[in-house]
Amino acid sequence: MLAIFGTVAVTLWLTKDNLFYLLNFSYIGISIALGISLYIREYKHARRVTQLLVGCYMLLYLGLICNENMQIEGFWYYLFTGVFEAATIHYAVAKIFGPLLFGRGWCGYACWTAMVLDFLPYKQPKQPRKKIGFIRYITFTLSLIFVATLFLMHAGDMERIMFLSFIIGNLLYYAVGIALAFILKDNRAFCKYICPITVFLKPMSYFSVLRIKCDKSKCVSCGKCKQVCPMDVDITDNSRKRANGAECILCLECVKSCPKKAL
Ligand code: SF4
Ligand code: SF4
Ligand code: SF4
Repeated sequence: MLAIFGTVAVTLWLTKDNLFYLLNFSYIGISIALGISLYIREYKHARRVTQLLVGCYMLLYLGLICNENMQIEGFWYYLFTGVFEAATIHYAVAKIFGPLLFGRGWCGYACWTAMVLDFLPYKQPKQPRKKIGFIRYITFTLSLIFVATLFLMHAGDMERIMFLSFIIGNLLYYAVGIALAFILKDNRAFCKYICPITVFLKPMSYFSVLRIKCDKSKCVSCGKCKQVCPMDVDITDNSRKRANGAECILCLECVKSCPKKAL
């Protein structure tokens, strides 16, 4: 992972002639590598270390200090202006093409919304999954309409509007995410039903190179992996069509819980 992010860092630094990309992607690569090495040393909160290092950096430094809107509105904004900078690069690496390689690693190790939701008490869902995932398409479309309208109206000071929408959008995400977690007794309810970014993440991660597989010769069908999974994935099924397979956030809770080391 360090090599992958190091390659992205150097490539963008040289092609864009901007030192920021070298520092930015190196920091993210080092944070991920640190989490992996802590995991190898069996530190219980290894994933959370990476999630807090990357999530806080993106929310506090890039978002609030540098005024970069990394939410989906920021992506549409840069896309419409035809600029391959900031949010468009972030989306290309973390949420559109990156998931072909590392699935929904973003959701497990970097997202600043989930970084807060993962502190809540319902790490394993306490209720069956609801059939309300269609809401993500509504939020996705609304975000697109919002930015398209600003462009059609020739709104002035778009940078300021984007910064304000970043603040308001984040506050809304946290409020809805926390409320849903308590109502549905599921920390990741927001990820499962509301988050517009999953419209990109789910189809791309379906083809992910990095994925957890089950060694059927070791598995004793005890069901522990399914009990601990925050995303209701049927991880014992090795096919790409396994139930909720495109929801896996690579948190490795199933791997840690398997008594037979079958995952
Ligand atoms: S589904 Fe959305 S809110 Fe949840 S972790 Fe992924 S990007 Fe973040
Ligand atoms: S527990 Fe396993 S299957 Fe479930 S999200 Fe985490 S890594 Fe994926
Ligand atoms: S926890 Fe391990 S042994 Fe139990 S069902 Fe899952 S993969 Fe099989």
